Amino acid sequence: MDRKVDHDVVVIGAGFGGLYALHRFRDDLGLDVRVFERGSDVGGTWYWNRYPGARCDVESMFYSYSFSPELEQDWEWAERFPAQPEILAYAGHVADRFDLRRDISLETSVVSATYDPEYGTWLVVTDRGEQVRAAYLVTAVGCLSSSRVPDFPGMETFAGETHHTGRWPHDGVDLTGRRVAVIGTGSSGVQAIPVIAERAAHVTVFQRTPHYTIPARNRPLRADEVAAIKADYRRYRAESRIAPGGVPIFNPPVGSALDVAEQTRIEELDRRWEAGGSAVMMTFNDTALNREANEVLAAYVRDKIQQSVRDPRTATTLTPVDYPIGAKRICFDTDYYDTYNRDNVTLVGLRETPIERITEHGVLVDGVEHAVDVIVFATGYDAMTGPLNAIDIRGADGQLLRDAWSAGPRTYLGLSTAGFPNLFMITGPGSPSVLVNMIVSIEQHVDWVCDLLTHCQEYDVVRVEAQLDAQDRWVDHVNERAAHTLYLEAASWYLGANVPGKPRVFMPYVGGMGPYRKTCDQVAADGYPGFTLTPRRGDGRPADAGSTPGTALPAQESL
Ligand code: NAP
Repeated sequence: MDRKVDHDVVVIGAGFGGLYALHRFRDDLGLDVRVFERGSDVGGTWYWNRYPGARCDVESMFYSYSFSPELEQDWEWAERFPAQPEILAYAGHVADRFDLRRDISLETSVVSATYDPEYGTWLVVTDRGEQVRAAYLVTAVGCLSSSRVPDFPGMETFAGETHHTGRWPHDGVDLTGRRVAVIGTGSSGVQAIPVIAERAAHVTVFQRTPHYTIPARNRPLRADEVAAIKADYRRYRAESRIAPGGVPIFNPPVGSALDVAEQTRIEELDRRWEAGGSAVMMTFNDTALNREANEVLAAYVRDKIQQSVRDPRTATTLTPVDYPIGAKRICFDTDYYDTYNRDNVTLVGLRETPIERITEHGVLVDGVEHAVDVIVFATGYDAMTGPLNAIDIRGADGQLLRDAWSAGPRTYLGLSTAGFPNLFMITGPGSPSVLVNMIVSIEQHVDWVCDLLTHCQEYDVVRVEAQLDAQDRWVDHVNERAAHTLYLEAASWYLGANVPGKPRVFMPYVGGMGPYRKTCDQVAADGYPGFTLTPRRGDGRPADAGSTPGTALPAQESL
């Protein structure tokens, strides 16, 4: 690439997406790549989320890169579900093993990125005042990296410590013998509460909506099972790439929840409940689609809650009743419900009586002040669009991305958005991302962008832009697929419902990893229909820059 640029590609973020993008773009395509990362180390979400109990709920043997057979053979995972320190160590190992650190600028946030239509380059500005030009901008900013603390009145008056789970101090927080409030009971709260309860003098949990949670049954991995997977890793990886969830299917559904004989239904659910992890959610093939079928699974989990929690009032408060199981992201836990049987744990339901205010000494609900020393905000994220909208990304006509998306994100394939040429989003809205194994999603996106950049090199294309009509059709398709599911029946972060004022748009693509991959592969095989590919003119600028009339490649049939 010989445009007047400092780098061929700027990548924002050095989490799993950014690391892999750097490796592929630099080491396979030979491009000059610069990565900006706001943390002081690589690892992305696993760098920031150091709260007690933080753990991935995709199994470690599959929540790992597949691109290097040597890496996957060498790395030894300790547990079925990897804990945050182990995943962070893995990210660091990858960075060292592939010599990635030399092209990563740490503790550097990108504050703006502006496309210059005349020269066909992105001008990227960082919070350190550095300005660099790049031909391509790739965002690998994560889907859940804009942490959110609700605007509770009185926050500034609290005399104790406050911590968000996604911004946990790196030298830890000693909670031993302290009174701790945990606000929020999504995946982060569900993981943190049992671990905090073991140390704290008292834990008061503030719960707005009860979440459904299923035992993870985490345990050390056995040498024989690791050896068996490693012996057949290539096959498992191939299966993961085409599986709907991006992981091999060990427990396929037994059929419709409404058709299966009662005996089979109970036996299967019990077996899967004991197996732990995602198996329970996979029991039937229609629980994501049919409310009656969903109710079979939901009722089973509700019974488990009633059986686990001794105090009937607490059990009732913990039991979700008014939304389908899976419509908010399912949680996987270790001893979550049992924790409420401890003497040092109190549950405060907020459904009828929200938090009134934070006081100097604690949290006020329904006129009662719950005195605490520490408040843990497990209150989630401005998901998917938050991290992108936080950067001033300006497209070809000067429009800000956040303005272009003011009514909700609009992308073509979740990879690209009209008006923002040469910008590619890794696991952007409109792609399966958060609904599937993120690492499989990341590898698919980066590989696809690599193929596109290779195509651009081959055909001397300097500008790639999603076409508006292709984007409109993709957004319609994403919405239409979501509308056939039960996802729309819960106020979830998938829909932006957790952020006041955020447009209610179902952001990820529910079509599954395999079908989505097929669609993306087809677009590549067909010469990128739905994208306008603009070749270089004599002076290296895009052919339609300045006064030269556009000479975009012939329009191809769109998706
Ligand atoms: P979350 O699922 O959005 O949960 C936030 C919690 O805070 C919810 O219980 C929410 O209640 C509550 N909350 C928000 N605003 C509130 C308010 N004003 N008053 C009272 N309660 C309030 O966030 P998260 O637990 O951090 O998880 C986010 C996502 O990160 C997960 O869904 C998952 O995708 C990912 N994650 C994964 C893992 C893992 O792999 N194990 C672990 C952690 C996180 P409502 O439900 O009523 O809104």
